Amino acid sequence: MIVTITPGAPASTATAILAAAAAAGLEARAMADGHGGTLVGVHGGLDPDLLALPGVGGIHPTHKPYMLACREHRPHAPSVVKVGDVRIGGGRPVIMAGPCVVEDHDSLLVAARAVKAAGADILRGGAFKPRTSPYAFQGLGEEGLKHLAAARAATGLPIVTEVMEPDQVELVAGYADMLQVGTRNMANFPLLRRVGQTGKPILLKRGFSATVEEWLMSAEYILAGGNPNVVLCERGIRGFDPALRFTLDLAAVPLAKELSHLPIIVDPSHATGKRSLVGRMALAGIAAGADGLIVEVHPDPDLAKCDAAQTITPAELTVITRSSRALHAVLLDAGAESSASPVLADRVLHA
Ligand code: PEP
Ligand code: MN
Repeated sequence: MIVTITPGAPASTATAILAAAAAAGLEARAMADGHGGTLVGVHGGLDPDLLALPGVGGIHPTHKPYMLACREHRPHAPSVVKVGDVRIGGGRPVIMAGPCVVEDHDSLLVAARAVKAAGADILRGGAFKPRTSPYAFQGLGEEGLKHLAAARAATGLPIVTEVMEPDQVELVAGYADMLQVGTRNMANFPLLRRVGQTGKPILLKRGFSATVEEWLMSAEYILAGGNPNVVLCERGIRGFDPALRFTLDLAAVPLAKELSHLPIIVDPSHATGKRSLVGRMALAGIAAGADGLIVEVHPDPDLAKCDAAQTITPAELTVITRSSRALHAVLLDAGAESSASPVLADRVLHA
């Protein structure tokens, strides 16, 4: 069950509910609702008499195993996650862009300036890379993080970069504005627990063989750890057809929005593996209701050290940022967003 506590309620209310749950042998977690109130998720049911406390605004039974990530108890607004000054969720699409891997200081700076000029909001780039082959370039590690920090200082763009191991979290969090958990680590529970202990925004990519429910359960690990700042990323799942690298599961975007209050972005680069398709799939993601995109961009894509085949130019990114924002505005004006799902209808009503 979820208990909503109104803003301004005494702290003793949440404490009393957590204590009642503990006395009943039930797991429970409190989480800020992003609007000044508190949510307490109890894994099971409590006697309503125990909940007659000041500031209790509502009691919502839920049968979803992801009780903190679920949508049901957030009737007023989906979550907005802030990365620096950038707000992800509920507004214009946020564009994250940059090379697959940080290659060196100078080329990252060129890329960062180029994606900024192309309209990107956040710079991406891997310093620690999960490569299929142990012989492939594994990234520059901490040196790459330093280059990212230098690029942020030069451009003002916040940075998102991947963290692969629990023991790396502190190091990466020392440099990054947002931590990426990659598809191969979506079910790395020690890593999820560890990033749940940071206050950093987390970009949680969907495992390429994970169901939507498994993905939301991974988000739940982070929320249950005390970190409410989770952004989901649909990046393609493994299908039967080797024609493309992965299959972009577009329907998962509005579905995740119906099931969860968390923002969601789309990665058309890894989903297709093919640069000629990235622009169209980016727009498809926005049409499906995504709150943003993450796109691999390199000043000279053929020379990219990693994922060159799916990497686009800054000029192509300019078209994507412009058309994504234009499409989003048109859909909003036309009311398509509000009719597309009750979740989006809420958003429009409470904008
Ligand atoms: C990446 O963003 O560079 C990456 C490795 O993504 P994914 O985990 O989705 O493959
Ligand atoms: Mn990549």
